[in-house]
Amino acid sequence: MELMYASTRDAEEKVTASYAILKGLAKDGGLYVPSFIPSLETDMDTLSKMSYQETAYEVLKLFLTDFTEEELKHCINAAYDSKFDTEEIAPLVYADDAYYLELFHGPTIAFKDMALSILPHLLITAARKNQVKNDIVILTATSGDTGKAALAGFADVEGTKIIVFYPKNGVSPIQEKQMVTQKGENTFVVGIHGNFDQAQTGVKEMFSDVALAKEMDAAGYQFSSANSINIGRLVPQIAYYVYAYAKMYANGVIAKDEKINIVVPTGNFGNILAAFYAKNMGLPVAKLICASNENKVLYDFFSTGKYDKNREFVLTSSPSMDILISSNLERLIYQIAGASAEKNAELMKSLSATGAYEITPEMKEQLSDFYGNYTDEAETAETIRELYQKTGYLIDTHTAVAAGVYHKYKKDTGDTETKTVIASTASPFKFTRSVMNAIDGKYDSFGEFELVDEMSKIGNVPIPQAIEEIRTAKVRHETVCKVEEMPQEVKRFLGI
Ligand SMILES: *Cc1c(COP(=O)(O)O)cnc(C)c1O
Repeated sequence: MELMYASTRDAEEKVTASYAILKGLAKDGGLYVPSFIPSLETDMDTLSKMSYQETAYEVLKLFLTDFTEEELKHCINAAYDSKFDTEEIAPLVYADDAYYLELFHGPTIAFKDMALSILPHLLITAARKNQVKNDIVILTATSGDTGKAALAGFADVEGTKIIVFYPKNGVSPIQEKQMVTQKGENTFVVGIHGNFDQAQTGVKEMFSDVALAKEMDAAGYQFSSANSINIGRLVPQIAYYVYAYAKMYANGVIAKDEKINIVVPTGNFGNILAAFYAKNMGLPVAKLICASNENKVLYDFFSTGKYDKNREFVLTSSPSMDILISSNLERLIYQIAGASAEKNAELMKSLSATGAYEITPEMKEQLSDFYGNYTDEAETAETIRELYQKTGYLIDTHTAVAAGVYHKYKKDTGDTETKTVIASTASPFKFTRSVMNAIDGKYDSFGEFELVDEMSKIGNVPIPQAIEEIRTAKVRHETVCKVEEMPQEVKRFLGI
């Protein structure tokens, strides 16, 4: 049976995988979801001998059914190549009490590279398949890491342009420097006077602006999305959970069919949703542990069944998780509502009207796969320091939120036996100041790049290429605008 994609808000809409990738978001504002979750056909003994690329193919072919084998393999091989600084692509590192799945070995040293290095290839292939003549304009809101990873993925890719909006005062200095120094004639980076949610809402509004779409079409352009709402990002993320499990099995860490826990530092709910899909494909997973920072809207949701974004937005040391509207949660809501677009649309309407919604007790029962918790800023820093002092292993602030929540999980549940994978979502070099300050207050007076050198020394890890590059790179993007000026900036860049 061919797998199609349905909108979470309109039961009538059914499209192919390539069309869903091309569009990003459904016409009605809904997200595309697979009509069923396919089972992992390949047995674990076979998977345990596979490379990352081969594993990715086994997963992608099940979800992207209108792509040919040749197309998928081409996309995979173009994405997971020497842009990554390790042949394993996503190595597993054991430290203290968990297996850290390092998803930061790509060009921008954050996990977004895992999906954004393949998305441009999937998108171009999808455009060809759907006889698209227009240039594709990637419009993205970023809390820091998506922006750079998308820029790196799309820079100078023929037939595409990419526009990135980020909160001017809501990203780390290194994140900002990485973005504003981006090369490529087809790239445009704009800071906004606002937070990530406002940037994301602004982008979503442009996507559903019919008049703007007409103007764009007349000028030979159409929008697509590189945000984690695009299934072309979600599906490649499933692969590394399968890969991690297969590696643990290959190394004798787990027995056949032994269940593992997966802890994910969560913002937009994309990464953990990929783990949920992996579990639904049949990967032996016990608990999906959803870790939040002080913007703990998801923790509250898992505890109470009520999603409520009406609260103070906190700027934390894990900015890529400073999010109050976790867009991908909608896909989970749709599923636990019994794949009911109607029920989901009702809840999302309530979210946009009042900033809140509440699920039914029957829906809440289906969330038993998940455990949610959060760490505050002091706990996050303590987790970094303790792990470093105990093992010498350095983790970034986002990963530390996950590690801290894992400690709480063990205390709360008494489950200390289940082998646990922690998604390590960024290199500590991306959040150098916060990580070094967590280790010792004396680093407070160090300059940004002094800290980089010091981190390399105390952690005994080489400085990643991505950091070396921006030491001297020239700023190429200086535009800053108000939230309501976002559409004008887009038109200005496109010359329409
Ligand atoms: C994006 C990001 C996250 C959050 O991932 P989601 O898929 O949005 O939940 C966590 N950590 C880092 C470093 C990120 O860049």
